Amino acid sequence: MSDERAPTEPHDSAAATVTASPGPSGRAVVVAPPWRDTVGVASAVRKGLASLVGGMRVTGRYVARPSTVVTQHYPENRGTLRLADRFRGTLRFDHDADGYHGCTVCRICEDQCPNRSIVITQRDKGALTKKELDTFVWRLDACTFCNTCVMVCPFNVLHFGPGFESAVYDRRLLVYTLNGYAGPTAALLKKVADPQARKAACEPRDPFSGPTVLQVLAKERAAAAPASVPVPVPVPAPVPDPVPVPDPVPVPVPVPAPVPDPAPVPDPVPVPVPDSVPLPSPAPEATDVR
Ligand code: SF4
Ligand code: SF4
Repeated sequence: MSDERAPTEPHDSAAATVTASPGPSGRAVVVAPPWRDTVGVASAVRKGLASLVGGMRVTGRYVARPSTVVTQHYPENRGTLRLADRFRGTLRFDHDADGYHGCTVCRICEDQCPNRSIVITQRDKGALTKKELDTFVWRLDACTFCNTCVMVCPFNVLHFGPGFESAVYDRRLLVYTLNGYAGPTAALLKKVADPQARKAACEPRDPFSGPTVLQVLAKERAAAAPASVPVPVPVPAPVPDPVPVPDPVPVPVPVPAPVPDPAPVPDPVPVPVPDSVPLPSPAPEATDVR
């Protein structure tokens, strides 16, 4: 067996200029020239730039014409959102136009589920038959969407719907009751002519009315709790009636003594003014004796 390499085919025009030298068998072996790596890097850069420009061109087109943007705006477009027909989001329990189901409680789906995601409870003394569906519980938290339950149901009661908004913060809430009522099948109910009797045979169920995990846990906790001894409630001591407080003795208010009227001031007695006394005559002036 020869280890002779087959001649290398040139990948581009640059490789066409490679040097050929004879191999051990005398056939020409193509040897890449030393500048071949440089050519490869330049080519890669050129392609990368072309790709970048192409992407920027698309972005620029959407910026210039926003109406052409094809990005899905969830959840604003929830009403028009179209999922694939085969998408399996949530298990559905079929009800006809009157709201009646066709489950006969055969339990095939429950037996065939590989994850025990289906739990069925039944009423042994139903309104019309000995065995009627009570609750059909589906555990979304344990379901692998294998579709087995849908395929094995002989009455086509189950199917997968496109619902996908099942996110919750507590996985124990991923447990649903799928049947809308507890009672006989649609075929039996339609044999009852009286609508009131038909209504009385059905008991409403809602999505969380079944034995959900939360309810089971609550029952287990209640069963595990020790029998509670009634704690005597302390009876408060009777509060004695308050001692009656005597009414306050009215304190006599001192009446101020009447102030006597001021004594009348007598009118001033007029003083008799004496008649004018004649003034003495002035003394004679001194005589100059020189
Ligand atoms: S899809 Fe599979 S795992 Fe889920 S409930 Fe049905 S049988 Fe069980
Ligand atoms: S859903 Fe179908 S398979 Fe499951 S118990 Fe009802 S009739 Fe039977």
